[in-house]
Amino acid sequence: MAHPIFSRRRFLKRKVCIFCKESTLSADYKDQEQLRQFITDRGKILPRRITGTCAKHQRKLTTAIKRARVLSILPFTQSMP
Ligand SMILES: [Zn+2]
Repeated sequence: MAHPIFSRRRFLKRKVCIFCKESTLSADYKDQEQLRQFITDRGKILPRRITGTCAKHQRKLTTAIKRARVLSILPFTQSMP
């Protein structure tokens, strides 16, 4: 029987930056649906190692999220039930 070597692979969301992958995509502060993928359910910005976003786009994304917060598109914090 073969050793289950693939079981060591933990579930990773994405390893490739989605903004690099799709050139048409850009961090838009008006796009709530898109930005929600990069924040936790408590409204925190997800780190790069989880989302897989590259440094350049993570920086743009952070700016977009912060801008969206000011415009109350995204919450600063979300209270847990
Ligand atoms: Zn990128």
